[in-house]
Amino acid sequence: MGGEPRSLTILETRIESPTVKSFYFEYSEDVEPGQFLMVWVPGVGEAPFSVSRCDGNTVCISVRKAGEVTSALHRMKEGDKIGVRGPFGQGFKLKGNQIALLAGGCGAAPLLYLASVASRENKKVHAFVGASGKDEILFKEEFEKYGDLHVCTDDGSYGRKGFPTDAFEEILGKEDIDAVYTCGPEKMMKKVFDICSKKKIPMQASLERHMKCGVGLCGACLCDGLCVCKDGPVFEDQLLGKMKEFGKEKRDACGVRGEV
Ligand SMILES: Cc1cc2nc3c(=O)[nH]c(=O)nc-3n(C[C@H](O)[C@H](O)[C@H](O)COP(=O)(O)OP(=O)(O)OC[C@H]3O[C@@H](n4cnc5c(N)ncnc54)[C@H](O)[C@@H]3O)c2cc1C
Repeated sequence: MGGEPRSLTILETRIESPTVKSFYFEYSEDVEPGQFLMVWVPGVGEAPFSVSRCDGNTVCISVRKAGEVTSALHRMKEGDKIGVRGPFGQGFKLKGNQIALLAGGCGAAPLLYLASVASRENKKVHAFVGASGKDEILFKEEFEKYGDLHVCTDDGSYGRKGFPTDAFEEILGKEDIDAVYTCGPEKMMKKVFDICSKKKIPMQASLERHMKCGVGLCGACLCDGLCVCKDGPVFEDQLLGKMKEFGKEKRDACGVRGEV
């Protein structure tokens, strides 16, 4: 696990939305939902990405164009080579029988993989997927295949206007949800944590911090003394409840603290 980047060939690419593109490559290591890979674009740099799909020896990452590394990745095509290290970190621990997944933006990536595993294990899956607008809704058909899908858009162009947390709160009174998983903007995940604490439903969240080494050595991703790359990125509610920085602050690439 981890170590040197392996040079791998992109087998297939897929446009998911105007800003998100998926990349498939062969990967022989077992990857759990919620774990991540460090992907190196030759001559540009390296960044962490969750696995969004995994089928035998083929894995997929789904990448939102944000800056240098992700823009360079978006320019890559089938047959191009990338460097991959991993898998790293603690993934989601699948519990309960009727689970809710709350995704914001590209946070849908690790939850898609989790939904596929949960559905295979006969869990009832309720997915709450938030997007800025209709064109940015990710993995709609697949989430529908794995369970009930509730889409929320910021502009109301599809599904319910508002946040996934609003739709989630509504369903809580009607369904017996016994485990909750979230990945997305940290303020959304903090809200999920607050709702679940009140209702006493176990939850797990996947945190995002600037990562450099990916293996707990450099400290770039520290959050309340924990390395998000090694101790996380998925944390359970007991630990999240003790983290003063959760939902409030994170460091930028230079280590300077700012709001999440
Ligand atoms: C565990 C983990 C899993 C991730 N999984 C995915 C995934 O599945 N799909 C995906 O699209 N992205 C994912 N990300 C985020 C992805 O790693 C960043 O978008 C990427 O590092 C940006 O690199 P860049 O060089 O393109 O952007 P940069 O040029 O480094 O930055 C562009 C902008 O994005 C911001 N940014 C960069 N990295 C982060 C970060 N970690 N947190 C918040 N803001 C950031 C910068 O502040 C800047 O505003 C994940 C991050 C982590 C930590």
